[in-house]
Amino acid sequence: MKDGEDCPAGMTEVRPRNCRAPEMPAPSILDYRPRSTLVTAEHKVPKAKYPVIDFHGHPGSQLTNAAALEQMGAEMDALNIGLMLAANNVMGENLKRQLAVVGASAKMKNRVRILTGIDLRNVGPGWAERAVAQLEADVAAGAVGVGEIGKGFGLSIKKADGTRLRIDDPDLDPVWDAAAGLKIPVFIHTADPQEFWDEIDYKNERWLELALFPGRRYPKDQYPSFEELMTERDNLFRRHPKTLFVAAHMGWHANDLARLGRMFDEMPNVYAEVGAVLYDIGRQPRVAHDFFVKYQDRLLFGKDSYQPEEYPYYWRVFETRDEYFDYYRPYHAFWKLYGIDLPDSVLKKVYYQNALTITPAIPRTGWPK
Ligand SMILES: [Zn+2]
Repeated sequence: MKDGEDCPAGMTEVRPRNCRAPEMPAPSILDYRPRSTLVTAEHKVPKAKYPVIDFHGHPGSQLTNAAALEQMGAEMDALNIGLMLAANNVMGENLKRQLAVVGASAKMKNRVRILTGIDLRNVGPGWAERAVAQLEADVAAGAVGVGEIGKGFGLSIKKADGTRLRIDDPDLDPVWDAAAGLKIPVFIHTADPQEFWDEIDYKNERWLELALFPGRRYPKDQYPSFEELMTERDNLFRRHPKTLFVAAHMGWHANDLARLGRMFDEMPNVYAEVGAVLYDIGRQPRVAHDFFVKYQDRLLFGKDSYQPEEYPYYWRVFETRDEYFDYYRPYHAFWKLYGIDLPDSVLKKVYYQNALTITPAIPRTGWPK
């Protein structure tokens, strides 16, 4: 073995240029679960320090069933989530039914708001007029924004003529302009982690996830590339400077915060939401801390999948200086997290103030100064 080369499979480098195989059978990555012997102060944070707006909420039955909604209210109280923004892309009659369930609950009517969707199927002649009319009707009914526009946009949704619907397709322009006119944010999820496009080999950070979930593999011959999607997304953001866009999952740039910083610098209409990328924030605590302080006006809390027991991992990363603790989904990240210790003024912005700023229709009461 020469400098710069790896040991052959089944061996590890025990001294420079010296590979050795273990004498016992090696466990698979599923079964190797070492207990950390690190002894250091732990500060679990079951309840957020300030009330939180979850900008990336996906409640399910809670929006159709009054008892489930009340139950979610109790869970939100325990976590200090002041308001859940449902980002389920729901329009028309379904939206009205969900708004009625929320409105009928004395406890929850000011604790949930709903984003409407955009039906991106069959874009072609006449589509934009219908979509704008639907958007206006949904906002009149009580929707407070658009979202979540799902990752199928750009990846797989086709136009009426059978071609791929590009994210920057000019046929969509009237809808983005209408959102600006209605003063509502557009919450958009584009692409997926970069590694989902990469070779599924043992150097891929998401090997396990890709092996577990076939739908997350994007072979080059079937899908546009990650960078193609990013380019189209950024074209969209640039072409509509008056429309407020919130990029879900930090635009999938939490592993390259300088890149997200350049986007924020160039495009003042762009915000980002932190859901489901905690593993990247928590593995670079110093860089992430400085990034959150620098871009404190552009970042919004969001969780994505509604699992009450997972929120405290976010509170702990944002609020503490804890070292080397577990993330909640081992298949996302086999590494540990560190607290990024945000100052109170930044926590308040990320937890609720920025969401209030960009979403005028969220109730204004109950938020600390
Ligand atoms: Zn989502």
